[in-house]
Amino acid sequence: MTKAVVIGGGIAGLAAAKVLSPHFKQVIIYDKGEIKQSLHQHVLLKSGQTILENLFPGIKKKLALAGCLEIDWAKDTLWENFDGSFPRYDSSVKTLSMSRILLQKMIIKELASMPNIQFKDERVEKIADLEASLVVVAGGQNFPLNRFAGSVYSKEKILSIDLTYRSYVFNQNELQLDGFKQYYYQIDPPKSLLGGVICPIEDGKAMVTIIEKEARVSKCESYEDFLNKARQIPGGKFYEIIKNAQPLTPMATFRKTNTYRRILDEKKIAKGIVIIGDVLNSLNPVFGQGMTLSLMQVELLEKMLSSKNFDEKNFHIKCNGLGVIPYLLSKTGSEEKSFGKTILRLYLQLCQKSRGLHHHFLKVLHGLGSPGKAI
Ligand SMILES: Cc1cc2nc3c(=O)[nH]c(=O)nc-3n(C[C@H](O)[C@H](O)[C@H](O)COP(=O)(O)OP(=O)(O)OC[C@H]3O[C@@H](n4cnc5c(N)ncnc54)[C@H](O)[C@@H]3O)c2cc1C
Repeated sequence: MTKAVVIGGGIAGLAAAKVLSPHFKQVIIYDKGEIKQSLHQHVLLKSGQTILENLFPGIKKKLALAGCLEIDWAKDTLWENFDGSFPRYDSSVKTLSMSRILLQKMIIKELASMPNIQFKDERVEKIADLEASLVVVAGGQNFPLNRFAGSVYSKEKILSIDLTYRSYVFNQNELQLDGFKQYYYQIDPPKSLLGGVICPIEDGKAMVTIIEKEARVSKCESYEDFLNKARQIPGGKFYEIIKNAQPLTPMATFRKTNTYRRILDEKKIAKGIVIIGDVLNSLNPVFGQGMTLSLMQVELLEKMLSSKNFDEKNFHIKCNGLGVIPYLLSKTGSEEKSFGKTILRLYLQLCQKSRGLHHHFLKVLHGLGSPGKAI
């Protein structure tokens, strides 16, 4: 086939370009150049890291050489919520921790050495203008899919989350991280409306993020305001960790009001169009699943293209299936009150008492097994 076009150079679009490249003479990635959420903590879960390494062999080593630390999600992680803290022990769930910006740059570097992949810093206005045999739509959250491809989904499940992310970068060595490398205080409405995340990133730095559920954005303009919010995170640990450190960057703010899951109606999608990434599922970011789900979809695309049996309809049916568990976790975790939420809370309370159950939770979260099978 001659030409494939990817709309959007985020994680989904970049990874898709890699798997298209052996099957097309030319692959063009169009990007209008804005990934505003990049300045906030972006965890790539373990299954996402495995897919990334399969797509770009050696990339994990390059990330480690760039100064990304390996984190054990039990041993190196102090993870607290309203009910207490999760156990710490040697687990099999280990990932490299990096900024979204570095991850993106590394992937672009890998693609830049592939002769049939081209980048265009342009906004695509219409699919018909692209004159390609295949168009991969990977324009991210809030991409106006209906305007580009017609009304192609049969259902859209929208949930309001009203989260504000506020982040700074610090030097790791100025933080009081005694005996652990990353810290989570889980936001959990309605009990905890404030949460905090401290994650190491490359080069001796750490991303420090406060996540707040608020219907209207509250005043938080200075570092002093940020520290005031930090003091309100229950348990006091988040504030203790950062109180003697000075931020290296200005504060980045991102507001995410809704999550959505779009169930595509495969019959309505024109031949030659593939839809992936946040265009399909824009999840609650606190569970860190978005990039991994995008990579799972790209892995599926690769398998179907390589089997020479590719058809858009089957691809989108399978893609809908990949989104089920991430969406359930995102939905249940976002709800203030529901039967699912009560079960999740009880389950997490048990995880705080049992390493076995906690390990099961980590494996499900990291895409290493389904809820029924991971133990
Ligand atoms: C605050 C926040 C924190 C998050 N934390 C995590 C996390 O810890 N872990 C995780 O896995 N996920 C996280 N996510 C989710 C993650 O950001 C997304 O799932 C992921 O970026 C999806 O990748 P994508 O390629 O589909 O979209 P994006 O990364 O958003 O990329 C879309 C690209 O398309 C381009 N584009 C859009 N329209 C056009 C057009 N018409 N023409 C050309 N280009 C266009 C945009 O410029 C953009 O570069 C978080 C999200 C938010 C908001």
